[in-house]
Amino acid sequence: METLTQVEPLTDSWGREIKSVRVSVTDKCNFRCTYCMPAEGLEWLARAEVLSFEEIARLVAVLARLGVDEVRLTGGEPLVRRDLPVLVRMLADTPGARDLSLTTNGVLLDRLAQPLVDAGLRRINVSLDSLDHVRFAELTRRDALDKVLRGLEEAERHPELRPIKVNCVAIKGFTEDDVPRLAALARRKPYVVRFIEFMPLDADEGWRDDQVLTGREIRALIEAEHGPLVELPAKASSTAKRFGFADGNGEVGFVSPVSEPFCSTCDRIRLTADGQLRTCLFSRREWDLKTPLRAGASDEELTALLRTAVAHKELKHRINEPGFVRASRSMSQIGG
Ligand code: SAM
Ligand code: SF4
Repeated sequence: METLTQVEPLTDSWGREIKSVRVSVTDKCNFRCTYCMPAEGLEWLARAEVLSFEEIARLVAVLARLGVDEVRLTGGEPLVRRDLPVLVRMLADTPGARDLSLTTNGVLLDRLAQPLVDAGLRRINVSLDSLDHVRFAELTRRDALDKVLRGLEEAERHPELRPIKVNCVAIKGFTEDDVPRLAALARRKPYVVRFIEFMPLDADEGWRDDQVLTGREIRALIEAEHGPLVELPAKASSTAKRFGFADGNGEVGFVSPVSEPFCSTCDRIRLTADGQLRTCLFSRREWDLKTPLRAGASDEELTALLRTAVAHKELKHRINEPGFVRASRSMSQIGG
């Protein structure tokens, strides 16, 4: 049997080693962000289709043995999954799963931050697209800005939970007005504020390339107000370029998958809530792990399947190429 030290890393056909898995724990959500879900929601997965905590923990343990040491829980909205801290505890105790984090819309964080920290969560990303009540409600189709801010404040009360990252999807003709206040938030609070380019992953299929407000454009808006930003070192596989303000007070980041793709250093795979492995956000193909898992596959069999899937990892997304074909599912169904 393979041991933690001997194991051959999980590497794709382009030489990229897979170190990170995004695990979707549910496809359901209590928001309806316009860039992600339709107003009426989507047809949710049947309960029996959704992986149990034990099944998720088993797959993460197999991945961790292959060197995948970064695990991020997401969804849908992960905090609507009942008893999520129980899963966090199981994953925090998984050998090799060194870096466990969570991406959330923050609306249930005011009451869940404490149990999540107690269970071993150490890093959190909270999505927040606007600090203006009307605009927040326009984007998320929920009047919940104050509740999200309370969730962030609660996260702040737990020093174990660092860094706190705030993710903002940037949309041209909309987000420009929010940039100054969000940049000010990064200076006022211990939050790293990151601007993410709008990608064609919205279920309504309304995305157009002229709606992408690029990282470069946002940087210029921030610099017009705060002076030159200073680039900070980032991990090679990082999705974000990091910048500090010149006085050293505050950090912002730009995740620019459309204008500055970072596919060549991608070290990520995704596990959907119904147990399908995706090797790219924009994959047209999924690899069914749930069926073999439920049929009693051994760790070795699951490992072989994972290696085959990863060998087929896409070289890059083709958003900017003619004939781009959208992914087979939308963002909330994949796990962003
Ligand atoms: N519900 C949680 C949340 O909103 O943080 C976790 C799941 S959500 C799908 C994960 C991240 O994807 C969020 O930061 C969200 O803003 C981002 N996202 C959703 N749709 C997107 C799109 N079309 N383009 C870029 N980012 C998107
Ligand atoms: Fe829900 Fe997150 Fe999608 Fe918004 S971005 S609808 S919060 S899954």
